Amino acid sequence: MRDPAKKIPLYLFTDSTVPDDLRGWVAEGVRDFSRYVPGLTLVRKETEFWNDDIGKVFENGVRRSLTEDGKLLAKEMLTALDEGSKGWKGMGQGAGAAGAVIYITMKDLTVPKMTICFGLTRVKARVSVNSMSRFANMKDMRSAALCVRRTVVHELGHMFGAPAPNRVIAAVEDFGKHCTDPDCVMCQTPNLDRLLEAAQREYRNDELFCSRCRRDIRRFLRDRGYR
Ligand SMILES: [Zn+2]
Ligand SMILES: [Zn+2]
Repeated sequence: MRDPAKKIPLYLFTDSTVPDDLRGWVAEGVRDFSRYVPGLTLVRKETEFWNDDIGKVFENGVRRSLTEDGKLLAKEMLTALDEGSKGWKGMGQGAGAAGAVIYITMKDLTVPKMTICFGLTRVKARVSVNSMSRFANMKDMRSAALCVRRTVVHELGHMFGAPAPNRVIAAVEDFGKHCTDPDCVMCQTPNLDRLLEAAQREYRNDELFCSRCRRDIRRFLRDRGYR
């Protein structure tokens, strides 16, 4: 049964070192995305989450994921987010489960074989880690804001079914499924220049997602009983 009023919780965690302006742009990215997922609701937004049981799992995750040069091993961090968020409302794999977790950090992310990583998402678990470190020092504020928003929308897109696993997808590098439409926010951007270019192009258009990715998101929601 479909319930149009059903809310989808988005657990947003922002590490306390993230500056206020970046925090605001992250929130704007969430708002941009909620055009496509109307039930999306920020249910938790904390700067410090180290003081409860779930926080301990995350804290251990951060500690385990930290490299000697101060980067976060993105995949290990995703495992911690997955473990820590199990049992939360809307999380898991069952019918109706569409809740998602995003963790925003100022630390650089590191992924084996990848030179630069702005965000990494575990699609099935719907957990995502996003680094704002490369955007913090950009000279132009508007460009930085666009990059932050685009990164957040892109990773949310992954968690809400775009592009669908059964679509034929090409990628610059083989990290996750990406859209081949160059005007779609789900296309992959291998470096900061390309990310900015893509963000500028996408934000000039009315739609951030191509029609196929929009359809994939709608199907994802419908399959879980959302409108
Ligand atoms: Zn991606
Ligand atoms: Zn697309």
